[in-house]
Amino acid sequence: MDRRTYLTALGATITGAATTGIAAAKDHPVYRPGGPWPGQLQAINLNGLLTNEQLADRLQQIDRRSDRLDLRQIGQSAGRNAPIWEATVGTGDTNVHLITQIHGDEPVGTEVAVDLLRELALSDSRQVRSILDELTLTVVPRVNPDGAMFHYDIDDDGRSEWVGRRTNTQRWNADDSRYEPWYHYTHPDGTTPGYDMNRDFNLRPPSEFDPRTDTDPGWWSQVDGDWYLDMPYEGYTLLASGLRLAPEVRAVTRSYLDADPDIAITHHHQGAYLVPDSGNGNGPADQTVMSVMGQYGPAYIEQSPFYDPDVPVEQVVNPFVDAATSTRSLRLNALVANALAERGNSVFDTITRYSYLPLWGSYLDALTPHTDAAGMLYEVSYQTDDRGQMSLGRMVEATRVGFVESLEALATETLDQVSASDYFDIPTHGKSLDNPHLSMRRR
Ligand SMILES: [Zn+2]
Repeated sequence: MDRRTYLTALGATITGAATTGIAAAKDHPVYRPGGPWPGQLQAINLNGLLTNEQLADRLQQIDRRSDRLDLRQIGQSAGRNAPIWEATVGTGDTNVHLITQIHGDEPVGTEVAVDLLRELALSDSRQVRSILDELTLTVVPRVNPDGAMFHYDIDDDGRSEWVGRRTNTQRWNADDSRYEPWYHYTHPDGTTPGYDMNRDFNLRPPSEFDPRTDTDPGWWSQVDGDWYLDMPYEGYTLLASGLRLAPEVRAVTRSYLDADPDIAITHHHQGAYLVPDSGNGNGPADQTVMSVMGQYGPAYIEQSPFYDPDVPVEQVVNPFVDAATSTRSLRLNALVANALAERGNSVFDTITRYSYLPLWGSYLDALTPHTDAAGMLYEVSYQTDDRGQMSLGRMVEATRVGFVESLEALATETLDQVSASDYFDIPTHGKSLDNPHLSMRRR
């Protein structure tokens, strides 16, 4: 894979991917009859979801009612100065770090995480007691309160609608970093730009290195007008490393390092994708309800869909994830996929695999090497500006089952009974539905 191919695979050359979903709404405001998609405009209804204030209320309510939960504010968002919360529960030896909604238009993980925290803080069920005895769970729900509450007059009626967006709300200033990084996007309506924060992490720990001020000019390269930090590290070149410019990312980094996790989980939404080889002419193809993604190192490089012996290893896998950690990650992801498939409901029998490629500015790739944490990423299908509440119930259920199965397996150690090779038997997700309302989305 050459550099351009790698960046394309990252979604890096999809200029403005963060915002074109909204731009496209204006280009394609008309519902296409017969298409599998609800109209963009009629689908937008976020009123069932928690606002930032409701999220704070909900967490504080749980905290008041329970002596098990430790709730604290670990930072605030760049634009709204909204609190970033961290909740910790459990007294076990296995540390789990879970973040949700780093992309503001991906809210389902937050909704489910709050319900899960309430359950763990207040229930006395056997399942809950076992999880609390074995695990210490640290949750950062809604990493991106700016994007979560983004309002925009999408239909030109003079009123702003609550639509959410991927990025936070933050300007780049010339003294923030040597160059404005590629993952800083301008919103098409001219409102405040922001960062795709799952590109803003950096592998070097904050105590040793500040990427805002300490980069070498030789580490920068320009592709199609965009600036990339290609940071050398232990003999590797980590293309498109992040700069930790967002205060939210600095807060999550501190939270992660303090929690010292054995398992790191991050929840996202993706667009609509098909299950490969479904349908087969006997009716419409199935859409996948969720994709899972394990994170692995050189031990499994030959099973990577991007494997090529001529390509530097750090462009295919994460060389800082050792074999044992890779195996735990693959087992955990396979377990969740199996658990959902076994629910006997055809909707959940459409789990697919999201092809892993290291993303050097992402939460998982930049942080898990510090604590040898097994990484897990969920991608439930559809963005909020895509499906709205039409499929919200399904997304919530898939996410809930995913979270609960993961924690239960970690608490009861059934993970050892799962074969890592099961992971590679999960089909990679099929082709993207050509939704006229949406541009390509990446984790
Ligand atoms: Zn995402």
